[in-house]
Amino acid sequence: MSDECIFCKIARKEVPTEPVYEDHDLLAFDDIHPVAPVHVLIVPKEHMVNLNDAGKNDVPVLGKALRLAAKIADERGIAESGYRVVVNNGEQGGQVVPHLHFHLVGGRPLTPGLGLRREDLSPGGSFLTGCRIGV
Ligand code: 5GP
Ligand code: ZN
Repeated sequence: MSDECIFCKIARKEVPTEPVYEDHDLLAFDDIHPVAPVHVLIVPKEHMVNLNDAGKNDVPVLGKALRLAAKIADERGIAESGYRVVVNNGEQGGQVVPHLHFHLVGGRPLTPGLGLRREDLSPGGSFLTGCRIGV
């Protein structure tokens, strides 16, 4: 846990926040500045800055976080209409809070593709397609 980290403070109950879900590993709560009718943050309680910090031992918690996103989406009534789960990772990934978290966003139509702006598109102007990432 980090003394100054806002999400660690929320996990330690030093900053009062209404939990959407809580267990030993994870805490979920509504984003303070929602970008959609449903905008929930799913936060591993252990302080990791982002995915770069996640090791083999963290795999179960990361998997659990994704399953929790689907469960909360179902509870909020957006499982069928669709939703997006996002991890902003590092400065150029748009991460502002340096404690790993998953955004669950839905309840309205979201920008197709990756939600990138025009200037983020490839020089040809089309969305990146057929992207293959080996994991
Ligand atoms: P990031 O850009 O790091 O992926 O997203 C951080 C998110 O945390 C933002 O959507 C922001 O609104 C949210 N956030 C920052 N501070 C707080 C807080 O104190 N409480 C809650 N509920 N959300 C926060
Ligand atoms: Zn933290």
